[in-house]
Amino acid sequence: MTQSPPVITLVHGDITDQHVDAIVNAANSSLLGGGGVDGAIHRRGGPAILEDCRKLRASHYGRGLPTGKAVATTAGRLHARWVIHTVGPVHSVVEDRSDLLASCYRESLRVAGELGATSIAFPAVSTGIYGWPIDDGARIAVRTVREAAPASVTDVRFVLFDTHAYREFEKALAAER
Ligand code: ADP
Repeated sequence: MTQSPPVITLVHGDITDQHVDAIVNAANSSLLGGGGVDGAIHRRGGPAILEDCRKLRASHYGRGLPTGKAVATTAGRLHARWVIHTVGPVHSVVEDRSDLLASCYRESLRVAGELGATSIAFPAVSTGIYGWPIDDGARIAVRTVREAAPASVTDVRFVLFDTHAYREFEKALAAER
């Protein structure tokens, strides 16, 4: 039996407004917060998220969460049950780090599946401060979600902050159909 892919929806807006089981954070490896979407999630979700992050650092990730991995915490005051923190690669012109970016989506989906989440919202990981070109970032995101979503995750949303990112995800989705 072939597995049906998840329904993928594009949303133009702020990921912290989403009502889903899991919101993915484009975190940095310290797990202690940062700018961009990371800052927005901690601000809106409140201190419980940082508290969980600190515990994870103490118990497992003293050297930081490795790039391409994902880990879950409470979602605090967000309209979600969990925040899944993943660390995207910094874009490089001398080294192909696409596998690491794909891994962020794969690992986040794996964690979501383990938690029993059925709906998940992703930002465009690495396409802000980490400099990944949005067209390529969108292609990797869409392809990986199609390939790697567990059957239990049926609702995947990409939440794009700006119009340009939204258009690039539209193109990537259309190309994959
Ligand atoms: P990274 O360090 O992985 O590049 P950033 O947070 O700088 O992470 O950016 C990742 C993407 O998230 C960028 O496309 C940025 O425009 C977008 N972004 C920033 N804030 C939000 C938000 N509140 N909701 C959704 N996307 C956001």
